[in-house]
Amino acid sequence: MIDQIDIDSEWFKELSEYPLVIAGPCSAESENQLVETAKYLAKNFKVNVFRAGLWKPRTRPGSFEGVGEIGLAWLKKVKQETGLKIITELARADHLDMILEAGVDMIWIGARTVANPFAIEEIASRLKEVDIPVFVKNPLHPDPSLWLGALERINKAGIRRLAAIHRGFYPFEKSDLRHIPKWEIPIDLMIKCPGLPMICDPSHIAGNRELIPAIAQRAMDLHMDGLMVEVHPDPVNALSDAKQQLDFKDFDHFMKNLEFRTDSFKAGEIINLLGQYRSQIDSVDAQILELLAQRMEVIDKIGGYKREHQVAILQLERWTEILRTRGSLAGELGLDDVFIQKLLDLIHQESIRIQSYPQSLRK
Ligand code: PEP
Ligand code: MN
Repeated sequence: MIDQIDIDSEWFKELSEYPLVIAGPCSAESENQLVETAKYLAKNFKVNVFRAGLWKPRTRPGSFEGVGEIGLAWLKKVKQETGLKIITELARADHLDMILEAGVDMIWIGARTVANPFAIEEIASRLKEVDIPVFVKNPLHPDPSLWLGALERINKAGIRRLAAIHRGFYPFEKSDLRHIPKWEIPIDLMIKCPGLPMICDPSHIAGNRELIPAIAQRAMDLHMDGLMVEVHPDPVNALSDAKQQLDFKDFDHFMKNLEFRTDSFKAGEIINLLGQYRSQIDSVDAQILELLAQRMEVIDKIGGYKREHQVAILQLERWTEILRTRGSLAGELGLDDVFIQKLLDLIHQESIRIQSYPQSLRK
């Protein structure tokens, strides 16, 4: 099935030196803001493509939903005055004509749209009539097939200049990041579709300026093919994603400090499969530990509650129930029964230790 993704392997190499850098504000807000940002970014020789969202699909009503069509003229001006290539989000199939008419060079499909196969199908059927490079973001929830499915649908529409954007996944776990990277998912896609360029969007993963450099560096270390970074002249007053946009100075600093692994990079190839698998394991292990920490936090709370209400720490029926339900889930997941019993025992012992003493007495 995956073999059927048919990618033009040359277009991406021709687009830029390694890595591809897409930068620009989350949203177009005014002509001035766009032109000022683009002129600044054009001076940074590493920036190849200018981004700005015109129609912003938002999770909650009442947030800034974008300037819409009027922003296309501003993007056109950016292109004329800076020579940068332009990318914007295609949120609805019926926006495609005006986007093309304005001379936009490429489009991205946003995380919320990718989650809806009907919307993707509609977009794909419009794309049959045109040829434009398409960047497909991962959906908000960590479902690799939804991401792959969107890529396949668009590819079937005849789009061969295709790339993926890793922008992280909605975190149900506690996290300092706005979206958890789950690096194993983009790596899996890189392994399955070796010709497919993978771009990292550290801005939407981080959700705050400070964490962007570390995420971007990780993406470069994993040999991802490029970055999409949000840059705004006055981020604090940005109309969308104010916490995660870099100002000009921070962007320059960030780019200067980023280490590009040009030595071992070969466009479109997985350099070191063993390394990619190890990176997947690193990412999954980090998530296991984060989840364990989260479990122990709840355990601490239940310990306090039990002390307050003088409830015994160990309730045998509850423990038997845990063993039964986890055992059967583990079976469904193909995990070894004996291993899981041992693991649950260990977790249980630690949970009892935590509940036995308030945090101040614990060592
Ligand atoms: C964006 O790039 O500004 C955006 C809205 O992205 P996503 O679809 O990844 O949330
Ligand atoms: Mn944004």
